[in-house]
Amino acid sequence: MCPTYDAMRMRHYGPRGRINLILDLMGGSNGAPSPDSMGRRVVDGIFTCLHCGACDTQCPAGIKISDVILSFKALVLSQRFKGRGSK
Ligand code: SF4
Repeated sequence: MCPTYDAMRMRHYGPRGRINLILDLMGGSNGAPSPDSMGRRVVDGIFTCLHCGACDTQCPAGIKISDVILSFKALVLSQRFKGRGSK
């Protein structure tokens, strides 16, 4: 079982809720939204994923859900900090 869903008992803290949020946020756009434009509930739901992989063995389609969530976080953060490199 997803440990964050087990602790919070709210859909957006579980794998299905996180994937649905990501699908909603990515729908029809060419890029991920910035964290600033995402509601607190969305940010908390997606960014509290622990990437433990417990959900990966439960997906009947064989989707690596934790990888999808990690990739989405990376995309959002890369947009958030675009242009800020170390010099
Ligand atoms: S990797 Fe899956 S099981 Fe683990 S915290 Fe994230 S959504 Fe929950």
